[in-house]
Amino acid sequence: MQSTGKLSEKKYDVVVVGGGIIGLASAYAAVKKGLSVALVEREAQNKDASVRNFGFITVSGQKRGAHWQRARYTRDVWADIAPKAGIDIEHSGLHMLIQRPEAMDVAEAFLKTPMGADCQLLSQAEIAKQAPYLHQGLGVLYSPHELRVESKTAIGKLATWLQHAHGVDFYNQTSVQLVTLPKVYTSRGTLTAEHCVVCPGADLYSLYPETLAQAQAKLCTLNMLRVMPKQAFTLNAAVMSDLSFARYDGFAQLPEAKGLISLLDKVQAAERQAGVHLIVVQSADGSLIIGDSHDYSDRELPFRDVRIDELIINECQRVLNIGDMDVVQHWLGVYPSGDDVVFKAAPEKGVVVGSVTGGTGASTGFAFGEELIDLVLESKQ
Ligand SMILES: Cc1cc2nc3c(=O)[nH]c(=O)nc-3n(C[C@H](O)[C@H](O)[C@H](O)COP(=O)(O)OP(=O)(O)OC[C@H]3O[C@@H](n4cnc5c(N)ncnc54)[C@H](O)[C@@H]3O)c2cc1C
Repeated sequence: MQSTGKLSEKKYDVVVVGGGIIGLASAYAAVKKGLSVALVEREAQNKDASVRNFGFITVSGQKRGAHWQRARYTRDVWADIAPKAGIDIEHSGLHMLIQRPEAMDVAEAFLKTPMGADCQLLSQAEIAKQAPYLHQGLGVLYSPHELRVESKTAIGKLATWLQHAHGVDFYNQTSVQLVTLPKVYTSRGTLTAEHCVVCPGADLYSLYPETLAQAQAKLCTLNMLRVMPKQAFTLNAAVMSDLSFARYDGFAQLPEAKGLISLLDKVQAAERQAGVHLIVVQSADGSLIIGDSHDYSDRELPFRDVRIDELIINECQRVLNIGDMDVVQHWLGVYPSGDDVVFKAAPEKGVVVGSVTGGTGASTGFAFGEELIDLVLESKQ
């Protein structure tokens, strides 16, 4: 990966700012249109939300309508490019353990919507076969759509593939400080471009702060853990719980979710106040990433509250019957959370600023990257 070499003097069709999943997806959308692309990333490689996430490419549960469609499309792009970029799909599908009648109401209502097509409630025999490690519940909602990639390596592999297979020039350890097209001023000199797409993730202040302020975004800090079960076992699909029915828009915005939400606000008040719900995914070494929590603030929170980790571990134990586990890693992650699930704007001709403001960039990024490239090309006309 090019990082400290001399900046090219050529005129690019597009300079993309930010090497997270949204910047990479935008670069991919641009090269698919035959455009020449440079991508500028402040760090040696992304170290933010795009590598701190679960790598959980989720369709079921995404907000009904355009965002759910983004997720369907993005999932298909991941399935197409993962083998080309050398990215393993660790597992696919989703099991949502239903532990309360109110959650069953939500699952049944979801199945009646267009989003429920191809999803199903599993029979007891199917649960015993597909997910024997789940505790006994009232049922399991199965969604076939989901994929899981190991983000901490997938993001680097995606960048390498875009460089070698699609000719994207990468300038890492390089910060973009000002854009006045055709000039893009960086900490290492000037690039020249017809268009610029700014994908700054949670950095709402360095470039186009007034435009990004329109997203009305707070910064959401999440607790995440990697645990190693003491006894080896294989997860056949991602796992979520009743708390997720009350949290993910595609379920929680159904009228039938009201009963579950008010029940959980009483019986799992600590989890609800900390924004805790459960996602469990597995890595190739058998470890599990479990999370998460949601703390909204006007700034990135520096300190991790271990009591929230306990809430996540307890929820995991209530859902998975896998015995003892060691916590081997914990970390915080941050994403911008706005009025809407995405934010995009063209502050001037040839420049677009975009951010996924609903915490779903791995799941919706390839569709959103195409929207950003379409918008920046339109903004020049
Ligand atoms: C803990 C956690 C778990 C999550 N889990 C999931 C999940 O499982 N599935 C899912 O779909 N979504 C998940 N999300 C959300 C998802 O990770 C984000 O929506 C997505 O990663 C955002 O990508 P991004 O490219 O916008 O931002 P980022 O990953 O933050 O990348 C932005 C990049 O821009 C660079 N940059 C910024 N300004 C400049 C500049 N001026 N010059 C040069 N470079 C600059 C930064 O260095 C950074 O590398 C999760 C988020 C978190 C925090």
